[in-house]
Amino acid sequence: MKNIAFALILLSSVNVFARSTSSASDVKSTLSEAHKKFKDLKDGKNADYIPALKKVPSELFGIALVTVDGKVYTAGDIDKQFSIQSISKVFTLSHVLQESGEKQITDTVGVDATGDVFNSIVAVEKNKGHEMNPLVNPGAIATTSMVKGKNADEIWNKIINVHSAFAGRPLEVNQEVYKSESETNQRNQAIGKLMEAYEIIKTNPEQATDLYTRQCSINVNAKDLATMAATLANGGLNPVTRTKVIDQKHVKGVLAVMSTAGLYDNTGQWLFKTGLPAKSGVGGGVIAIVPGKFGIAAFSPRLDDAGNSVRAQRAIEYITEKLKANPYDIQPRGEYVIGKDER
Ligand code: GLU
Repeated sequence: MKNIAFALILLSSVNVFARSTSSASDVKSTLSEAHKKFKDLKDGKNADYIPALKKVPSELFGIALVTVDGKVYTAGDIDKQFSIQSISKVFTLSHVLQESGEKQITDTVGVDATGDVFNSIVAVEKNKGHEMNPLVNPGAIATTSMVKGKNADEIWNKIINVHSAFAGRPLEVNQEVYKSESETNQRNQAIGKLMEAYEIIKTNPEQATDLYTRQCSINVNAKDLATMAATLANGGLNPVTRTKVIDQKHVKGVLAVMSTAGLYDNTGQWLFKTGLPAKSGVGGGVIAIVPGKFGIAAFSPRLDDAGNSVRAQRAIEYITEKLKANPYDIQPRGEYVIGKDER
């Protein structure tokens, strides 16, 4: 009986492997299908609390997928650049983990979802600055304040360099978005001050908020974002440039925080549908990671009420389903027959 069970397990492992292997033409056609299927979706609207984001053409829609062996697949508006916004939080967090280790985060802003909106001041008050996470504004501004450096320029260079290393090309700031957000980010400035009052921010909070605003204004295209996601999918090694960006041991923590807090208040719904760690930004980008397989990104400016791009979410959900990439979507391993004596 035990031998039969073992043979069944072996057989089903072969099937599981076959099932998860999609050919290059499957991937290419799946991306094109997703683009075609959702390009006319008009639900949602551009973010407008940052004036420059209102002006981005709402019809833009790009999708990119980069595998851990460096293959790149794209569909739609792939060269159009847009501001990375909250997705930058993932990469500054990665840098701080690499530079100072995980206790730097777990002992300060923590890694728990707040259950409140991304820029909630109530959440800071309830938790006295702790027990939030680096992907909501209070935790993110604090995380930016933890990047080490003698002055703002030195810190900024580290931030832009880590983003560029993840993307595999030198990235730049969208000056119009930076200016626009700097003129209207009073709430984030208040959050920075409050995090200083709770002694989580130990450096200058105005500087931390300014650097955070600048990192949110970094320009990327969908392919950059997919490469950044693929670097996480590949354990911290950029699969296109073949350079190590962060140590493998830090990736699992980054993905865990993305899984619990990556899509604002809709993170649970997202995880329920896709099973993937992901992060969205109010610029219209969304990234998702299929650990050990690929990174995927989509961009389209119209957002739902929670602040997530409508088309980008639909496209990634569709592709995840078609490529059978949800890691929780487990195929039973054969029919294990329970012998009488084992009941
Ligand atoms: N820079 C934006 C803010 O702090 C980022 C928000 C987002 O993309 O969620 O409001």
